[in-house]
Amino acid sequence: PRLANQIAAGEVVERPASVVKELLENSLDAGATQIEIDVEQGGMKLIRLRDNGGGIEEQDLPLALSRHATSKILVLEDLEAVNSLGFRGEALASISSVSRLTLTSRRADASSAWQVQTEGRDMEPVVSPAAHPQGTCVEVRDLFFNTPARRKFMRTEQTEFKHLEEVVKRLALSRSDVSFQLRHNGRVIHQLRPARTEQEHERRISSVCGPAFIDQALSLDMCAEASGLRLWGWMGLPTFSRSQTDLQYFFVNGRIIRDKLVAHAVRQAYQDVLFHGRHPAFVLYLELDPRLVDVNVHPTKHEVRFREGRLVHDFIFRTLHRVIADVRP
Ligand code: ADP
Ligand code: MG
Repeated sequence: PRLANQIAAGEVVERPASVVKELLENSLDAGATQIEIDVEQGGMKLIRLRDNGGGIEEQDLPLALSRHATSKILVLEDLEAVNSLGFRGEALASISSVSRLTLTSRRADASSAWQVQTEGRDMEPVVSPAAHPQGTCVEVRDLFFNTPARRKFMRTEQTEFKHLEEVVKRLALSRSDVSFQLRHNGRVIHQLRPARTEQEHERRISSVCGPAFIDQALSLDMCAEASGLRLWGWMGLPTFSRSQTDLQYFFVNGRIIRDKLVAHAVRQAYQDVLFHGRHPAFVLYLELDPRLVDVNVHPTKHEVRFREGRLVHDFIFRTLHRVIADVRP
């Protein structure tokens, strides 16, 4: 079975950034409000993620590392309205098959913490007692140590870290209520406190996207609403457009997406005001009934499928266009 995990790992675990994405999603699914991420050498040597979420029971620890063991889908209908971020039950199994992994966890009602360790695919996990506060800590060392062919695809430490940081930024933008800390080689790179007021929210956008963005951005704080759709967030002014598409965040029900239909609607809204070849900058949040959107299209590509594509497209376009039209000279 561990070989099957390694094969699956080829799909889920591409680089350190994909490990961080899966671990962060698990922490958020577990209801964590504080997440600390420690990274060494761009994540290739070490990724350690600690959360204060619900934790895992002792007897469930080995299960968490086995393939298709997910605690998140209890009935088939859940698949129709998937709210949790991870639901395929293969991330931890995949990661553990290509790294040295330690999973430590403690539930609030448990008298102590427990731990399992694995080294690649040849070991069955053994549970032992450990010291840890409530929550979960996943330590991933020496990623791809047993799959040299994959290790060769790793870029420089700085490049891997940039990818990893981008994952943290996206999730930090999607969950302003959660505090995040990211350290690289012992240095604090991001320290994001939970945001409750609008001012705190703007401060978080500012630390993630840079003050230059938020200082001039148009805020959609009126929360445009129509037919059960809600859109809010920040739009960069045309003058803050970029030549690279590095500041484009669009979240659907809290999940970052890249979608042709959405991209088209945004581009159209900016169409009359943008110079050719420039890309608008934005952080936008769309909320709608989860049954109207299919997030299970591809596990890692952030694709979605809207049941009412036309409606969603026109709503986004109209809302953004109205805001832009207001500031046009
Ligand atoms: P999935 O997230 O798709 O269920 P994973 O392989 O990512 O699959 O995780 C397997 C299981 O391990 C989860 O369903 C969950 O029960 C448990 N788990 C993993 N990470 C955490 C965490 N940080 N806190 C609590 N439980 C966790
Ligand atoms: Mg998961």
